[in-house]
Amino acid sequence: MKNSVLTRSTAMGLLTLAFALSATSAWSQSRHHRRRHRESADDARRDSDRMRRHRRYDRTREPTTRRGRPITLPLVTAPEPFDPPPVQDSQPRPYDHVVIVSIDGLRPDAIAMTDTPNLRMLRSQGAWAQEARTITHSYTLPSHTSMLSGVDVDRHGLLHNNFTPRHGFTRSVTALYIARDAGFTTAMFVSKPKFRHIAIPGSVDVFERPDYACGPVVRQAAAHLQATREGITFVHLSEPDGAGHSRGWMTESYMRAIAQADRCLGVLLRTIQARADRGRVLLLVSADHGGHGRTHGSTQENDMRIPWIAWGSRVRLGDFSEPVSTMDTAATALGALGLATPADWTGRPVRRALDGANGAAETGVASPTRPTIAR
Ligand SMILES: [Zn+2]
Repeated sequence: MKNSVLTRSTAMGLLTLAFALSATSAWSQSRHHRRRHRESADDARRDSDRMRRHRRYDRTREPTTRRGRPITLPLVTAPEPFDPPPVQDSQPRPYDHVVIVSIDGLRPDAIAMTDTPNLRMLRSQGAWAQEARTITHSYTLPSHTSMLSGVDVDRHGLLHNNFTPRHGFTRSVTALYIARDAGFTTAMFVSKPKFRHIAIPGSVDVFERPDYACGPVVRQAAAHLQATREGITFVHLSEPDGAGHSRGWMTESYMRAIAQADRCLGVLLRTIQARADRGRVLLLVSADHGGHGRTHGSTQENDMRIPWIAWGSRVRLGDFSEPVSTMDTAATALGALGLATPADWTGRPVRRALDGANGAAETGVASPTRPTIAR
């Protein structure tokens, strides 16, 4: 067709050809655009279906068989062979008890934008990493596995993000496993059943999943913090992530969820403050990922940046700009208990949380004023 146009008149032909080409290109672009649009709409629909199922599942009680028996994970993948790292006799043991609180989907830049008196108190009386990031595969289960085991997904192998019994446990040893092996008490209080994948056999004395809502989770965790004097206690709060997926990150609903998580955090703080041995407790508050729109999991900054706060008697106060990885959380927890980091871990102890002399948590008195822990 183009040839017949060209034979009539060269000028006319060239004009027609140019038009034809541009029209074809415009048509192809708009077709491309329509297809992309359709695909992204499909993706969004699939995502939202997945999230609806996910939330419905997450809100259920402990997973059980049809006969009501609790589902336990088969040991499909055994943890990697593990040589316990030596107790660091040469180093003092800075703390006896490490409490790790992960607030799911909490973006650090949102903390100053809503009602977060407890997080702000921790910031002013602790150390706050301004450059903390999660792993690039920033989904809840893989990220938390890295947070607690000091290695990335290539080592722990936990890529899925749902409770899937046939997948078994993470392949890597966790800080809880190492601490328990060294004689400490370990516990996990979580709001999602999928955390069972991280609780490898022999790693936790207590595993509780009371509810999706943070209230019941922190009530059980607080009872444990009153009764236990040592080891690693992990607490997971879900609210911001839930609001982010259903209404969007940085929306009003998301901000309300953060305020709720902050109130739950306050329950734990008051419990720690009430302990006579509070100076022997290190509290680490972080998150598994941030988020944007109604999702997360990409390598963009809003997804990857996480809060990372250390609060305890040996913490060097103030905001700091040294980069922190979520994998450092596991190593810091071990370092706090005087345990060495396994040589093949990527995570390293954040010294700033271990070798200062803050004294605030020890005395229960913030410098210069007594901390007010908001209810
Ligand atoms: Zn998450």
